[in-house]
Amino acid sequence: MKKCYIQNLALNITDNCNLECSHCLRGKSCNNNMSDDVIEATLSQVKGIGNLSINGGEPTLAIGQIEKIIDYVIKNNILIEEFTTTINGTIYSEELLRLLEVMNNYIGEEEVLSMFAVSLDKYHLKELERLELLDRFRENVIKYNESKYFYGLRDIYVKLFREGRAAELDNSITVPLRPMDVFITYANNKRKFDRENGLCNIGPLVTIGTNGNITECDASIDHQNTIYNYGNVLNESIEENVLRRGKLFTNPKKFEKKAVKVIKKYSTYEK
Ligand code: SF4
Repeated sequence: MKKCYIQNLALNITDNCNLECSHCLRGKSCNNNMSDDVIEATLSQVKGIGNLSINGGEPTLAIGQIEKIIDYVIKNNILIEEFTTTINGTIYSEELLRLLEVMNNYIGEEEVLSMFAVSLDKYHLKELERLELLDRFRENVIKYNESKYFYGLRDIYVKLFREGRAAELDNSITVPLRPMDVFITYANNKRKFDRENGLCNIGPLVTIGTNGNITECDASIDHQNTIYNYGNVLNESIEENVLRRGKLFTNPKKFEKKAVKVIKKYSTYEK
């Protein structure tokens, strides 16, 4: 199996969360965590990742999975340029900070490239109020703020996808999910197309669900298992999957330009 470079790889490591925000794209919380088999089946196909993002649910409820991912990355010398995660702020986790430190030392740059954000938007706030967790949230943010890995509060500044619980909110603040176009190319060291020996380069984003489904990042769990279930890393390689449903670029230079354009376009849809 050919190992790939993936521009953005999102791992949804848990479907578990201690909140029930009204806009949640993930639907009802449940106890599924990404299995060791799925972690290995995914990362064994990867040579390098531009941004490895860890999502949930609430990632601090699955610290063991984050640890396994980092262990695998380090033992197998996978190139990582950036490591990010978003948490809901109700749980203070020294362990998360320790793991970010481990990852940052591994990436080996002076600049901090392991980062995390805490969600903050009106729906989170409403949920924190309902559960009387606002004081704990504030205390945690103050403590997290002292960490060099904390890059701030993540607000919803654009529309929500009409997915999960967000589908039940006001239609005027939600938009339909736009499935991601994926691209693949193979470049040799002269940046020429070389399917046989070139580096397999995939972009702009591949998302893996807790059960190994290759899916859309912002789809609800239901949709990740149904209409946005494109295959599973346990029985198909990511390369084959993207070749089957994505675009093959025979000009790697053109691909890079196109990928940058797509990433920019996609960022306007971010929640
Ligand atoms: S939006 Fe995030 S914090 Fe809120 S319920 Fe969903 S996963 Fe949990």
